[in-house]
Amino acid sequence: MLHQKTFKEDILNWFEANQRAMPWRETTNPYYIWISEIMLQQTQVKTVIDYYHRFTERFPTVEDLSEAKQDEVLKYWEGLGYYSRARNFHTAIQEVAAEYNGKVPDNPEKFEKLKGVGPYTKAAVMSIAFDLPLPTVDGNVFRVWSRLNNDFSDTAKQSTRKAFESELLPYVETKAGQFNQAMMELGALICTPKSPLCLFCPVQSHCDAFNEGTVEELPVKTKKIKKKTIQQECFVIKNENNEYLIEQRQAKLLNGMWEFPMFEKGSSQEKLEALLGSNINLPAKAAYQLKHQFTHLTWNINVYVLPKTVQSNQINANEHYCWMDLKDRNQFNFPASMHKILNHLESQNTQN
Ligand code: SF4
Repeated sequence: MLHQKTFKEDILNWFEANQRAMPWRETTNPYYIWISEIMLQQTQVKTVIDYYHRFTERFPTVEDLSEAKQDEVLKYWEGLGYYSRARNFHTAIQEVAAEYNGKVPDNPEKFEKLKGVGPYTKAAVMSIAFDLPLPTVDGNVFRVWSRLNNDFSDTAKQSTRKAFESELLPYVETKAGQFNQAMMELGALICTPKSPLCLFCPVQSHCDAFNEGTVEELPVKTKKIKKKTIQQECFVIKNENNEYLIEQRQAKLLNGMWEFPMFEKGSSQEKLEALLGSNINLPAKAAYQLKHQFTHLTWNINVYVLPKTVQSNQINANEHYCWMDLKDRNQFNFPASMHKILNHLESQNTQN
């Protein structure tokens, strides 16, 4: 049974002694804390640390980031995935520069109006940077709180999030940032999804699921909708100067990233003819297959390599296309699947 005061003392004492060293824990600068929170969504701490260092070295202030071009910001994000996070954050920082004189607002109502700020980011940045009394409820907290209270509510439901937030409110009246971080750290290090370390848990005496023997059954989460799969066809097209045709994506997904021309299966022939003319010679078979996984979607990509070079002045490409020499690949932002094609081409070039 949870006893508010002793539970909070126990978890805070444990956190004080056991928290992992992280660069964003050594600062109270809300801009840096915000960067770390955006990067940490869906990404592991050990991956984020390098990105965080590079990003904050290149964009040390709100002003530096607000003045940067989106392409460069995406370049510093390349490999972290979920690029809409970076684009939204960049826009939000431009709003902070324009509307708040470069100072991250310490008012939750104002902060949540900034682009891309959801309930979790609001609570995390406001509590950690300004110690405002808002509880963070992320995957770790859902798990820890369900188990501590032996609560079988479905954590996929919005109503459960709301209930957890209100149950946690009394715990964040003081030391909100520390408490929130302690809960998330406990979930990451001790109260893990599989094989939690209950015997070493600093709050075991407060844990209802431990007492009831139901730890492995919690948290409850209804299954997500099945992932959609799209068959894509991607084309490696070379010109007389040994350059490759690439296109900057205009669609919402991976917006602004570059790719080899890629079309949904069934529409390729028509689109390629519009681009290259009707006398193109398409290979009958794909050279190889790739997969690109998103949260709700999988692309199965068949990669075709056109056997003949095309004349660069004979294609009918709009301003979103360009020719790229392989040695210049680092000047463009490519998603992971396109890096595989680029690596393949580089390895072929070294063999030849
Ligand atoms: Fe999680 Fe086990 Fe600790 Fe309960 S006792 S909070 S289930 S690690």
